[in-house]
Amino acid sequence: MTETEVLREWDRRYFWHPFTQMQCYGDDDPWIIARAEGNYVYDTEGHRCLDAIASLWCNIHGHRHPRLDAALLAQIGKVAHSTALGASNPPAIRLAKALVEMTPASLQHCFFSEDGSEAVEVAIKMAAQYWCNLGRPEKHLFLTLDNAYHGDTVGAVSVGGFPLFHAVYGHLLFPTLRLPSPYVLQWEDCEGDPVQATAAWLAALESTLQDQSGEIAALILEGGVQGAAGILPFPPGILAGAQRLCRAHEVLLIIDEVATGFGRSGKLFSCEWESVEPDLLALGKGLSGGYLPVAATLAAEHVYAAFLAPFGEARQFYYGHTYTANPLACAVALENLALFAEGSVLAALPGKIAQLRTGLQRFHGQSWAGEVRQFGLMAAIALRDPRTNAPYPYADRVEYAVCRRAREMGVYSRPLGDLLTIVPPLSVTAAEIDTILNTLYDAMAEGR
Ligand code: PLP
Repeated sequence: MTETEVLREWDRRYFWHPFTQMQCYGDDDPWIIARAEGNYVYDTEGHRCLDAIASLWCNIHGHRHPRLDAALLAQIGKVAHSTALGASNPPAIRLAKALVEMTPASLQHCFFSEDGSEAVEVAIKMAAQYWCNLGRPEKHLFLTLDNAYHGDTVGAVSVGGFPLFHAVYGHLLFPTLRLPSPYVLQWEDCEGDPVQATAAWLAALESTLQDQSGEIAALILEGGVQGAAGILPFPPGILAGAQRLCRAHEVLLIIDEVATGFGRSGKLFSCEWESVEPDLLALGKGLSGGYLPVAATLAAEHVYAAFLAPFGEARQFYYGHTYTANPLACAVALENLALFAEGSVLAALPGKIAQLRTGLQRFHGQSWAGEVRQFGLMAAIALRDPRTNAPYPYADRVEYAVCRRAREMGVYSRPLGDLLTIVPPLSVTAAEIDTILNTLYDAMAEGR
């Protein structure tokens, strides 16, 4: 047996993978990535692939970036981990300061956690406890969107809007109030007109707030696009309008920029497009440039202040894990922010985003393609069976076969339902954007 065959066998036997039907592993599953360099990953047999999904949307500056590697190694030489409960560490302190300085001005305090789901979980608990601490426990409901994805922990699924997850885990979840997805509203009820869709959505929000704001703790929205639901961009004005209405009705606004933060939208944070200053902001994924698990929830001054009280009044925030504010992860994240602060990463984005937009044109109208959607440097193309003009049956896993074919051709993508996704590192070059588009085009055209 080759080393790869041995590893595959052990993987199948011992390693239960996330979001994976383990019974459906094929003969050459799993694909085992042994190393990576720049925008490329290499499998155990040395096959090189362009990382078109940025290792699940989190890799920012490429793999093995010399500055990030150096930051990690420098920190390992000092301390790998010590608790943040009752103690602190220099990288976490500096990272908290840098995040407060770089995020919208409303946000003044930074709470660390490990993953995007947790950053949301923290925001939910903070919002709920905020109202309790202010003596208004009746404000306990969360207002959320159909099609929202905020992570997979119990709280994050509760505020999410994926019917499948609610069907499976519904008995564990807390009840929420729901508004329609702005994207679905735009295309199903407003003939694609963004102005009409924003007005309709804001009217629905206002009416809910007028009726029930006395019971609502917070509205939670993704940062301008419903990413995991299939890259469904909001029409302009949703975030700014939501902020205005939430303020008027005393409801906290939580923006989840786990997917859109750190340049994905074309600005450092997507909130900046509409000058939105939320009460709570959840960040994850790209925070450490795709190196280590660290996430953050940024809080406005008035949220933080509601947790201050004499010792013994039980007002402090009851949250914190063993690895919260891990120094290694914080040191790399700090260097990631330093790379952004130098300016060239963000300056290069408009050109890359425009190139992606132009390149996606060729998918329009193909018999094997459905909707094509883009938000900043992220895109999705629906795969269609040319014989039926509909998605392939879910159980046939044709999208997986197409991704496997793309991989053989040197591009690593991953299906999202019936969609093929392009979410490359921000360091992707113009030539690499072309390669991704050409390869996915060829693999999709080949089809089944
Ligand atoms: N929030 C949003 C908007 C996301 O897109 C995701 C993941 O895709 C999460 C939260 C959950 O992040 P994680 O997978 O790091 O827990």
